[in-house]
Amino acid sequence: MVDEAQRRKPTQKFGCPFCQQRLWHLGSQKYYLGDRDSWLEKFFCEEHDEIWMRLSKTLEDKIVATEATSEDWHRIK
Ligand SMILES: [Zn+2]
Repeated sequence: MVDEAQRRKPTQKFGCPFCQQRLWHLGSQKYYLGDRDSWLEKFFCEEHDEIWMRLSKTLEDKIVATEATSEDWHRIK
């Protein structure tokens, strides 16, 4: 059975790329990478402090998060 509450809330949780602990949204500015489906956003890990992550929306409307690289910063428009 599909969990209705979960389906209505697309907010996803992301883990720290270093320690897998939960990352917290800081509500920082989003820096979009060319298209509107990828952006850089700042998160907070209790262990590693602030971390910039690259978030990408997939075709299924899921969001994949990886650590932002210096290349990502060059792609900001
Ligand atoms: Zn961490």
